[in-house]
Amino acid sequence: MSISIKPLAENKRSSCPEEFGFGSVFSDHMFTQSYEAGRGWFDAEITPYHTFEIDPSAAVLHYGQEIFEGLKAYRKPDGKINLFRPEENIKRFNRSAHRMVMPEVDEALHLEAMKSLISIDQNWVPDQDGSSLYIRPAMIATSSKIGIEAAQGYLHFIITGPAGPYFQGGFYPISVYIADKYRRAVVGGVGEAKTGGNYAASLYASEEVAKIGYTQVLWLDAIEGRYVEEVGAMNICFVYEGRRIVTPALSGSILPGITRDSILTLAPYLGYEMTEELLDVHQILADIESGKITEVFGCGTAAVISPVGMLCYKGKEYFINDNQSGPVSKHLYDQLTGLQYGTIEDKFVWTQEI
Ligand SMILES: *Cc1c(COP(=O)(O)O)cnc(C)c1O
Repeated sequence: MSISIKPLAENKRSSCPEEFGFGSVFSDHMFTQSYEAGRGWFDAEITPYHTFEIDPSAAVLHYGQEIFEGLKAYRKPDGKINLFRPEENIKRFNRSAHRMVMPEVDEALHLEAMKSLISIDQNWVPDQDGSSLYIRPAMIATSSKIGIEAAQGYLHFIITGPAGPYFQGGFYPISVYIADKYRRAVVGGVGEAKTGGNYAASLYASEEVAKIGYTQVLWLDAIEGRYVEEVGAMNICFVYEGRRIVTPALSGSILPGITRDSILTLAPYLGYEMTEELLDVHQILADIESGKITEVFGCGTAAVISPVGMLCYKGKEYFINDNQSGPVSKHLYDQLTGLQYGTIEDKFVWTQEI
């Protein structure tokens, strides 16, 4: 199947504005393709960015049968554009689809769709330091029937938009509240899938901690309320004595991040010891108090690395490295962003030029 391209006339195109922040400005074009049971995928096309007309009874609007992905295109110093491990996002998209009883998409077509879309809107890939073009693939159940069962019709689409630097005015640590009342996901549920419901379920706790001055929620496992899982919509790592890094082992309710996976490969290469473990929150807090844990950071595509300066558990505050970001976080941040922006030699063959 090939992608039909119906671009805007050159004189109708806009260009990337000076100010864009994150998530509310979108590029000129988008990709869509449709699916019907019995027919498969059809009408793969790149068209001008547009709204959808959708039947009010569409399954996605009632039961949340939806998945998404998030990755970035990076402007290299020579003006060319890099993607970072895009096949991993596409594979995860299909794993999420499988879990949500949605049709998988052809991996090669999905990659081609992203690359063509970025080529057409290449003027939208910003070149300011730390900025990028955010790519948001998604799939929704569109067939109209109010009945609780997997839908017959789906829409797969990709939109893109410029993303400003995550850290403005410094690599400052965030403060994090350890959720003692709310849970994000449970083993056997859909925490491993990038599906909208997980995020809807997390909003209440995020709002509550924001009101008392915290930036993110740290999620514990849902069964014992004891094992560390994630921080906000990021995976989490703890640094012992500045040289050993630990991250929670994938439990079935943790989203398997590509940044996390990259750190698992990169950290040993940079001379750190790195392991995946079952991490008891009480042990973690004791190790912060005794000073054995020297750094804590979240990791994900948006921030790459987000240092954590303070954890609060049941009203008690635990400061990490005097609430300052530390050298291991900065080292990993510089190395990962160097690979993504093409300023460091890509020994792992993680990047693809468009
Ligand atoms: C997307 C996401 C991550 C990070 O994944 P990356 O592939 O590194 O961007 C971590 N946790 C949750 C809940 C996520 O949705």
